[in-house]
Amino acid sequence: MKYLYAPWRDRYFSRKPKGCLFCNAAKSHRDKKWFVFHRGEKCFGMVNLFPYTTAHVMVAPTRHCGDFSKLKKDEITEMFDIAQKILKALKKIYRCEGFNLGVNQGSAAGAGFAGHIHLHIVGRWTGDTNFMTTAGSTRVICADPEKLYGELRDFFKK
Ligand SMILES: [Zn+2]
Repeated sequence: MKYLYAPWRDRYFSRKPKGCLFCNAAKSHRDKKWFVFHRGEKCFGMVNLFPYTTAHVMVAPTRHCGDFSKLKKDEITEMFDIAQKILKALKKIYRCEGFNLGVNQGSAAGAGFAGHIHLHIVGRWTGDTNFMTTAGSTRVICADPEKLYGELRDFFKK
């Protein structure tokens, strides 16, 4: 895998937290530091600090839980309520034509933070798997996560 120069990512890596990223974000009141754009009763939405594509957002329960089958009904309901609103926002702001929604449970399944369940939402466009990924093993990320955070925060305030 080759990488393009992306200096804006540096500060995300240098602030990679100790402990559980999602519990740290849930407990913190510094929304901008964690890119938390919405806090519900049981779940919150945040822009991925380590995005692997342009519009990469996550929804997590506030409670530390690493097993989707152990989430409570009200946590699941709120998680998907927030997800629906995120899809509306990403369609409006970035004109996404499709979405991938998914949960990776456990490191065997590819979870970067295996201890705390989180739903990934990735915006997609026709032809977004461009030649860079196949020919150069390189991903192109077009949007600034900080900008996306601000846009989603504004959308959720409405
Ligand atoms: Zn946690």
